[in-house]
Amino acid sequence: MYQIDQRMSKKIIAILCLIAIIISTSGCTDILDTSKSSSNIQVGQNIELEVIEQEENTSKSQPENVKIEDEKDDKSEEIQNLVPYNGAVQHIFFHPLIAYPELAFDGDAKERGFNDYFVTIQEFERIIQSLYEKNYILIDINMLIQEKKEGDKTKIERSTLMIPEGKKPLIISIDDMNYYDYMRENGTIYKLILDDEGNIATYSIAPDGEEKIAYDNEIIPLLDKFVESHTDFSLDGTKGVIALTGFEGVLGYRTNEIDSPNYQKEKESALAVIEKLKENGWTFASHGYGHRDAAKISLKKLIADTNKWRDEVGSLVGPTKVYIYPYGSRVLPGDSKFQALVDAGFNILCAVGSQAYEKLDTNALMQDRRHIDGIGLIQQRERFLDLFDSYKIIDYNARPDKYIQGIKGEL
Ligand SMILES: [Zn+2]
Repeated sequence: MYQIDQRMSKKIIAILCLIAIIISTSGCTDILDTSKSSSNIQVGQNIELEVIEQEENTSKSQPENVKIEDEKDDKSEEIQNLVPYNGAVQHIFFHPLIAYPELAFDGDAKERGFNDYFVTIQEFERIIQSLYEKNYILIDINMLIQEKKEGDKTKIERSTLMIPEGKKPLIISIDDMNYYDYMRENGTIYKLILDDEGNIATYSIAPDGEEKIAYDNEIIPLLDKFVESHTDFSLDGTKGVIALTGFEGVLGYRTNEIDSPNYQKEKESALAVIEKLKENGWTFASHGYGHRDAAKISLKKLIADTNKWRDEVGSLVGPTKVYIYPYGSRVLPGDSKFQALVDAGFNILCAVGSQAYEKLDTNALMQDRRHIDGIGLIQQRERFLDLFDSYKIIDYNARPDKYIQGIKGEL
């Protein structure tokens, strides 16, 4: 009996062991999956650390010029074939898109302004396609300059841009992405939001009163999607510059109403969208707080406006060295107002002009941007032929006939 019991208990132990093995390999998948993923993360982190350590060791053990040569061989020539680009960089700008032409072109007092200064969804998509076909590539505006120490002074230098061979650098900016009340009433979206998965979407109220969440009626989601499927349209995933005022909040959130009971919620929502935009390759610029004309207002008012922007908008989007003058205005070196902008940390100052233009001052790079809007498309076809043929861009179905009659006759 004892021997049988011993054999039986051995068998029982063996069976129990087998069951334990089966459970541990297949029975508790959730726990296993969790432990697998967490161990993967740890491995990934370790590998990353090792790579960094190796790079550090390499840089320590080899002369610096050898390391640069290696990097050039690996990344520039073989993979991206980067070459220096000399010359002024194209910088074009838009306003938010007309998402609902029936609201923009409804015959009211604002109709003419929307025809002149805005473009439709279809026009934007055609423009981007043309720029891509003409071998433009989006670059980060902040790449244009670098600081150089000279004694105890700091100078601004123009960086040497390295661009994939055959490509032409391009900066895109969007002005007044604040979704002012007048814009909402005339056919722009209402605000940028994060969807359930944390991705950028747009929120608007359609002309029939329906609330709408979409991805195809504003520049940001459209350009994000375009770059996703045309990765060679962007250097390092860069998208564009979002130029914000502050007097009606930012990105559709009324963060200017600091005494409102909704303030905290508006601010948190705006911050979440801003964080995602940055992650997606967007950067920010000041467009002044109150959309004032820098050339016309007093120095005192310009300083007050700049400080208010820093407090209410800069506190949300983070520091930026880019200032985009409202009204395409400008002030020049030697003017105390120019110095006030530089003193406020703005080293790239953008006005409006008819062609790519840059001028370097000791403390700042001045650049012109070209306006992409109804005036450009309808009245200045010749001027934009290097970027697109505007007659092939115009949304003839959306824009009222009275503004495009002449062109229709020519086609
Ligand atoms: Zn503006």
